[in-house]
Amino acid sequence: MRTLAEFERRFATEGACRDYLARLRWPNGFCCPQCMTSGSWSTTRSLLMCRQCGYQASVTAGTIFHRTRIPLQDWFRAIWWMTDQTQRLTASGLQRLLGLGSYRTAWLWLQKLQRAMVRPGLDRLEGQIEVDETYIDGVTTRESSRYQESKALVAIAAQVDRKGIGRIRLRRIPAASASPLIAFVKYVVEPSSVVITDGWEAYAGLKQAGFKHRPRMISPTEKAATTLLPRVQRVALLLKRWLMGTHQGTLSGEQLDSYLDEFTFLFNRRTSRYRGKLFHRLVAQAVAIESSPFPRLVADS
Ligand SMILES: [Zn+2]
Repeated sequence: MRTLAEFERRFATEGACRDYLARLRWPNGFCCPQCMTSGSWSTTRSLLMCRQCGYQASVTAGTIFHRTRIPLQDWFRAIWWMTDQTQRLTASGLQRLLGLGSYRTAWLWLQKLQRAMVRPGLDRLEGQIEVDETYIDGVTTRESSRYQESKALVAIAAQVDRKGIGRIRLRRIPAASASPLIAFVKYVVEPSSVVITDGWEAYAGLKQAGFKHRPRMISPTEKAATTLLPRVQRVALLLKRWLMGTHQGTLSGEQLDSYLDEFTFLFNRRTSRYRGKLFHRLVAQAVAIESSPFPRLVADS
């Protein structure tokens, strides 16, 4: 599946979309949770009915597709467009492509999709990870006072892939203090991974939190911190450049969050060549049951 025509043939009906979701949810075939037999009928809508006992299981329960009035075909089309590496799917683009009535509906829907595509709690980085924070200008958050220059703090984790960058995670945090930084690392990095940071004392608790911590100090011979953590520095630079090209004017904290999700999504898939595979992976992520939310303490502290 590489072209739009192939895609449209593959998902020509709601039933074809439902079957695709059912196979993702029950890779070994449907098994009734009530009587443990395997035969089922597809009913109308998104239900499977057990042939033995009549139990009805929803194909979409617990997924972003649940209780939506939007046809699955439109969800699938939107996800297909999101896999386009050459063009960024915008809310107005989505509105036009699906003939949606309002821009706001398209915008909310795109946000929901983007959030579903980045599931850090389900899929943590492992191996060697560089972690640092950076300031993003022009963001009005609850923390920034009226007289301050508005900016937001973003934590960055970048996986070491030989000399390059593997996958990344980004998250807006309220302060560069120990509790949000450690919570961020716990949320996005697998325990017992190697976490590389600068010498900032807020990271001192990483060892106790179960990570192999490698703080790097600037020696007098080094010119700048960029040589300490080259990957996160590079990600910060690309992020800022991308934000400038994507958005003009001031952002709210919530808008920045969805931009961070989108950037992460695009960045982590920058080398994927097969669109069909990418699509499969995205739908699989959308089907995965919701993970626990980012710890409240970070949002509140
Ligand atoms: Zn049954």
